[in-house]
Amino acid sequence: MPTPFSQPEKPLNSFAPRLLDWFETDGRHDLPWQQHQTDRPNPYIVWLSEVMLQQTQVKTVLPYFARFMDSFPTVQDLAAAEWDTIAEHWAGMGYYARARNLHKGAKQLVDVINETGDYPQTLAAWEAISGVGPSTAGAIMAMGLHKYGVICDGNVKRVLTRWAAIDGDITKSATTKQLWVLAERLTPKENSGLFAQAMMDMGATLCVRRSPNCQLCPLREDCIAHAEGRETDYPVKAKKKPKPSKFSNALIIENNDAEVLWLQRPDNGIWGGLWSLPLEFVEKVTANKATKLAEAQPKKLQVSSNEKVYETEFTTAEQIIHEWLEENKLVAESVSNTLLDDAPIKHSLTHFHWYLQPQKLVINEAKSTELNEKLSAAQIAFKWLDKQKARDSLGLPRAMIKIIEV
Ligand code: SF4
Repeated sequence: MPTPFSQPEKPLNSFAPRLLDWFETDGRHDLPWQQHQTDRPNPYIVWLSEVMLQQTQVKTVLPYFARFMDSFPTVQDLAAAEWDTIAEHWAGMGYYARARNLHKGAKQLVDVINETGDYPQTLAAWEAISGVGPSTAGAIMAMGLHKYGVICDGNVKRVLTRWAAIDGDITKSATTKQLWVLAERLTPKENSGLFAQAMMDMGATLCVRRSPNCQLCPLREDCIAHAEGRETDYPVKAKKKPKPSKFSNALIIENNDAEVLWLQRPDNGIWGGLWSLPLEFVEKVTANKATKLAEAQPKKLQVSSNEKVYETEFTTAEQIIHEWLEENKLVAESVSNTLLDDAPIKHSLTHFHWYLQPQKLVINEAKSTELNEKLSAAQIAFKWLDKQKARDSLGLPRAMIKIIEV
């Protein structure tokens, strides 16, 4: 009789042994965070790598992980580090809220260790750590502590929706629940860490998004999507609306010493806690209009007079700078570059495309002193640094790196 997962009992029971056999011979065993070959796993390593891998691929994570381990070999080192140092280590990997949570989580873990003498030992205790969701907590339990733990991350969901032909929208909670039930049913009580590692490997190396390598797959003989030749129809996801676009001028305000003004972004919001050039947001436009505007008149973007946009998009520092520029009738000019004259730098975030137009303004010593005083009076975190020093010492988002490389 079919189970609720469209898969009979026999394949359900043989799923884990087949996967583990495949992993033993063909899986990856040399990733620096893997703990399945040691009797004394290190939860710190698994936690750190899992947070990094949440939205980033293995090959991108590898050098970041190595640098983090070099600078912060223990959770105590990470907890004691300055935020700016962590931001600088994370810069370029995107989804910066993860770095914030990592820092906060390290402090929470140190508190737990100081209180109990060890890392959290239960799923619920790990889920209480900042930035740790149910799948990350399951991975840490299974791989970082060698206890029972279940994972159901994006890779696992892809494998399972294909194998069991689960055709509900994976962004819906009913489908997520169904997938968790199936993941729990398939995870062996013994060796759940090895199983988690094998599932991750399957999703990353065989059952990949665009062209799954079914010929080498240990689940091929009972994979429903494969039998139907519909592998890439899964997972089913409702069509997303096209992302809106936003335009900003990125102000390169330079003093007499060729140093540029950098502002630390507020903790909440885009690039929280990182450093950026002052930005001037301009009227929100649709994707099509944005393209047309970029093509037609990239230098004539006007700062929005829409109060709501102004309030929500500008930081206090940017409001001060914007008003100061207007009072002094100072105008920044587009950076002369044929590429940028045609199209501003495009940066895509999860919820919108962002077109950034670098604009440069050189100010004299009297003006930079005046601006310093205004920013200091408002307790704004700012620095004057040349581009190279900023790149070397500040946590800069990737879009800012693109701009200073122009
Ligand atoms: S047979 Fe193909 S689609 Fe099915 S689980 Fe294996 S790799 Fe994925």
